[in-house]
Amino acid sequence: MIEDFNKQINKYFPTTGDNSELLFLLNKTSQLLCNWYSGSEDIGPLPREKIFEPSLPEENGCELNKLFDDINSLIYSSFNPAHPGSLAHLDPPPLSISIVGDLIAGALNNNLLAEELSPSISLLEERICKWFATKVGFTQNSGGIAASGGTLNNLNALVTARFNSGFASDQNASFIISEDAHVSFKKCATILGLKHENISVIETDNYGRMKVLSLIEEFKKIQNSSNKVFAVVATFGTTIRGAIDPINEISSFCRSKNIWLHIDGSIGGIFTLGKNKIIDNKALKNANSLTINPQKILGITKTSSLLLVNDIENLRDTFQTGLPYVDTSDGVLNRGELGVQGSRPAEIIKLWLGLRVLGSKGINEILDQSILKKSLFAEKLDKSKFDIISGPLHIVSFIPKNLSKEQSDSWTLQTKKLLLKNNFMISRPFYHGRYFLRVVLGNLNTEKTHIIKLIDFLNQQVL
Ligand SMILES: *Cc1c(COP(=O)(O)O)cnc(C)c1O
Repeated sequence: MIEDFNKQINKYFPTTGDNSELLFLLNKTSQLLCNWYSGSEDIGPLPREKIFEPSLPEENGCELNKLFDDINSLIYSSFNPAHPGSLAHLDPPPLSISIVGDLIAGALNNNLLAEELSPSISLLEERICKWFATKVGFTQNSGGIAASGGTLNNLNALVTARFNSGFASDQNASFIISEDAHVSFKKCATILGLKHENISVIETDNYGRMKVLSLIEEFKKIQNSSNKVFAVVATFGTTIRGAIDPINEISSFCRSKNIWLHIDGSIGGIFTLGKNKIIDNKALKNANSLTINPQKILGITKTSSLLLVNDIENLRDTFQTGLPYVDTSDGVLNRGELGVQGSRPAEIIKLWLGLRVLGSKGINEILDQSILKKSLFAEKLDKSKFDIISGPLHIVSFIPKNLSKEQSDSWTLQTKKLLLKNNFMISRPFYHGRYFLRVVLGNLNTEKTHIIKLIDFLNQQVL
């Protein structure tokens, strides 16, 4: 009986013997994906017709032919980040070698929870985090952890900051962000068991940067209340306009008050690897923690996010549980004890491969290109017709001048739809009371001619 059972089912798994079935699946899938990319220029960033109908698991398993039909319709009904008109979000085309990295991670199916379940990859993650932390200017004791996205790493940072402050179970604990900080901090508060009123929100200036004087005043106000500040969050690249908070000044203030500084560099952090310094790494080196999301601009496939900390002991102190069911070599830290996630995939492989294929030169070129494209866009958009908001990064938001809120909101809606019909996908964020249109210029497949075409279209939409 057991033997019969094995024979039927084990062809679905890699074996120590013949793996022609796996090879067949990999080849067929590779072909399908490459065909999709090659023929997708006319389909547009988003599919025009929705052909995908999710079938649910059936009693007897599904024939491979039918399964591949479904895979095909799933693929052809997907958003295409590699289309040159995909300019809406921080979701660039995937770097080819990082697709391979995901495949390797899946095939190895190691677990970053524990060293014995991922001996080589745990070491790799430790080294890459340390390498990044050193680039940023963090100390000898620095390190980091990969987590599935910036939201989770912001959470890892705030849990650590709160634990470190001694207010871990204090309901009056509060943290400070700017009004343009990412929505993930609301989730962080909820998960930390804090009311949204425990987030102090500081105004931004005309360039979208936290006002430091308001920060100082707010801090005093909190000190005179029953609340206790455990962290200040500075944003290195805001989501709507790519602004950068005055990190140097915020950092000096935090040091003078002995308050944890977390930098949300989900967008801007990667620019620390570039030659054209968007900000001086010296500004970062006194922060306690920094989130970096290589998924957002280098095109490492999702998810790829690191939390770097100036002192790795802070993560260990906060998250250490002991792993009673795991054997651990002397002096080895199981990386499941450095953050909120337990079992973790080997996301570090695709980041490692991506960084190595690109090298400093390639990384620099991607960053420079995105800034050059942003400059071109901001320069050519007709300033007599549009109000433009943009910081030093590759994001531009804009609205037509002199329209009422109603007129402007309807213009942005109509224009976004029209653009999609013309194979341009841009986004429509709600910011400071009205809808803007936004372009993110991190798509390597977008050429100058595409940008000029988009600009001409936009300039013609306003009389
Ligand atoms: C995208 C983003 C995040 C959240 O990252 P996820 O990977 O989507 O969880 C946090 N902060 C900023 C500034 C972001 O743009």
